[in-house]
Amino acid sequence: MSVRRVMGIETEYGISVPGNPSANPMLLSGQVVNAYATGRGIQAARASWDYADEQPLHDARGFDMGRGQAHPSQLTDEGADTEDPTLANVVLTNGARLYVDHAHPEYSSPEVTSPRDVVVWDKAGEVIMREAARRLSVVPPGVNLYKNNTDGKGASYGTHENYLMSRRTPFADIIRHLVPFFVVRQVMCGAGRVGIGVDSRTPGYQIASRSDFFEVEVGLETTLKRPIINTRDEPHAVADLYRRLHVIIGDANHCDVANLVKLGSTSLVLAMIEDGFIAEDLSVHRPVATLQAVSHDPSLRTKVEMSDGAQMTAVQLLWRYYELSRAYLDERHGGIPDEDTAEVLRWWESILTHLEADPMSARREVDWVAKLAVLEGYRDRDGLEWGDPRLRAIDIQWSDVRLEKGVFNRLERSGRFERLVDEDAVRYAVTTPPEDTRAWFRGQCLARFPREVVAASWDSVIFDVPGAPTMQRVPTLDPHRGTRAHVGAVLERSADAASLIAGLADVPEPRD
Ligand code: ATP
Ligand code: MG
Ligand code: MG
Repeated sequence: MSVRRVMGIETEYGISVPGNPSANPMLLSGQVVNAYATGRGIQAARASWDYADEQPLHDARGFDMGRGQAHPSQLTDEGADTEDPTLANVVLTNGARLYVDHAHPEYSSPEVTSPRDVVVWDKAGEVIMREAARRLSVVPPGVNLYKNNTDGKGASYGTHENYLMSRRTPFADIIRHLVPFFVVRQVMCGAGRVGIGVDSRTPGYQIASRSDFFEVEVGLETTLKRPIINTRDEPHAVADLYRRLHVIIGDANHCDVANLVKLGSTSLVLAMIEDGFIAEDLSVHRPVATLQAVSHDPSLRTKVEMSDGAQMTAVQLLWRYYELSRAYLDERHGGIPDEDTAEVLRWWESILTHLEADPMSARREVDWVAKLAVLEGYRDRDGLEWGDPRLRAIDIQWSDVRLEKGVFNRLERSGRFERLVDEDAVRYAVTTPPEDTRAWFRGQCLARFPREVVAASWDSVIFDVPGAPTMQRVPTLDPHRGTRAHVGAVLERSADAASLIAGLADVPEPRD
């Protein structure tokens, strides 16, 4: 095991209309999705998301182990051009889902297998949102979109990480080892926020924008009584084999390094949990209160009280997880298994070294530090107090998706942050799916046969082929199949969807 596993990230974007605070966010979000999906020049598929998952149909056998027969009447064919914003829910040729969730436009990345690819396809989502905002700006006042997680007035919206895990791993082990990790992970990956408390009423600056919104350790909810560990169990995959761990506690990142380390360090900790490697008890006393105390102290001096009474800083506890990961790789895998893992470990170590020496020295790598450095600049220059509305305005402006208006984006162009992925890779990812998961099959079907694909979900693609008596579902229940290596050739040689479906029956099993 390494940092590699099937994973994906979803981000709900903040939305507003300049000069019109009472604009209906649900309607606006629908417009954002539709502006992108119906725009010219982009092959955003018009296939809608498929809710008719359980029933099924005509299998394209040989491709996957799904079963079933779908009734055409249960398949929605609304798509990109619908007027009802709640139906704005489309699948893109890069394998992602673009839809309206909780009155926010949301981009859910395709499934990828490395933290680096998460960074690439997450950034593709920023490009997509930027393009949607640009199209809507043609009719003033347009809309503004923000890659952040709170409006600063009491609302929070999510960035969710998703990790494929073995179903065999007891959930109690996940809770035990992941709660303490999530309590402190924020010092590496928090986005920073002006204001303390859910409504930001108390003046100050804190490390993570979401921490004040968490109330319990474990639970099913994602928007009320938010839990550090979310128990949602929708695997979008063969349920006997897999779990999709749904992580709701992270912030949306702009810094490539923080984003990479967020996914990479978590994936390593999950590998250790799956392999039963963590023998010591790292649990912390009063995790929710500690989460908030750590977030409220940018000096990073706050001590975390461990269950055995020991005290350590967040950075010290993170070093512990880092060292355990190194030991795990040495003992169980004969060292660092691949370049992806090496890259994660390098940056993980770099962040901790910087945070330990002087938190501000992590300003090229970590969002909350980068933002704090800019805000401190204004505070010094203009003598601003933390309660000053100008600082709040900069906080929001930090995440504006526009290159020329977003504070982060402007600074990034001047070389202020470490960049791990180049623009060409991101541009490619806007329209092209990752090659090494089922997202390849989904995205390629949409790109090649946009008329015949009427719906798609994570675990199926549904075709309406001219002349066929029923719609046909191709199940994609295994995220590791439907890759380029597995179905690339049959996609290449299929002139139409009917031949693709016929051809899938003869596709050999993928090589492991
Ligand atoms: P909500 O927005 O209500 O939280 P959700 O968590 O069910 O919805 P989506 O918005 O549909 O999910 O996004 C699912 C994310 O999980 C995507 O980024 C996708 O790439 C990823 N994903 C899908 N299947 C798996 C899986 N089996 N394992 C890991 N990640 C997965
Ligand atoms: Mg979602
Ligand atoms: Mg989610």
